[in-house]
Amino acid sequence: MKHIEFTIDGKTMTAKPGQTILKAAEAHGVYIPHLCAYKDLIPHGSCRVCSVRCNGRIQAACVQTVSEGMIVENDTPEIHEFRKAILDMLFVEGNHFCMFCEKSGQCELQALAYRFGITAPQFPLLEPERELDMSHPDVYLDHNRCILCGRCVRVSQDLDNKNCFQFVGRGHRKRLKVNGEALAETDLRVTDAVVASCPVGALMKKRVGYAIPIGERHFDQQPIGHAIEEKNS
Ligand code: SF4
Repeated sequence: MKHIEFTIDGKTMTAKPGQTILKAAEAHGVYIPHLCAYKDLIPHGSCRVCSVRCNGRIQAACVQTVSEGMIVENDTPEIHEFRKAILDMLFVEGNHFCMFCEKSGQCELQALAYRFGITAPQFPLLEPERELDMSHPDVYLDHNRCILCGRCVRVSQDLDNKNCFQFVGRGHRKRLKVNGEALAETDLRVTDAVVASCPVGALMKKRVGYAIPIGERHFDQQPIGHAIEEKNS
């Protein structure tokens, strides 16, 4: 198979034809931060956290395929600030109280905040009023923590062959909706792949609080991206 040569931050790498920048980078031990991209899903490019400068233009690395001679800038102060601003906006747009969240230590948004050195909001907190859907016997949905990444919408459809979630509204009015009046009216099961797919503490199993003690959770042990970067060390 013909390989494509390209560079990331001046380092020459190879990619398979049709491979995205994100996947090609990971194969070479280069972590590109991302949130909406998820294993077994076709990439979507909605959160823009994986933005890189690609031949001079900002592109989402999860959807942009590599081409011969492509020049990718990933680890630069400009890209760092761009991604940090996106993460900052995700925090202030919802109600994220990490210290009280069962997902703390396993949350990809929190782990990215640590990686980017975010300790306090850069923008004004919007403090929206959002509901908590506790209607389902085994799973709850906390809209306060939803970052609208769309993983649940796509995992429910593409992996579970159901249609439990959808988006409604546009722009700042965009919201996650369940297929019914409340979660209990959907055909969601606690064993569905969708339940584990949420990157934050918005879609969670009930009755599993503190199964793993604080301090022993995934991102308490290693920063996000570590597993990819250690391939290169
Ligand atoms: S509930 Fe979770 S997976 Fe679904 S859109 Fe919100 S943050 Fe993403």
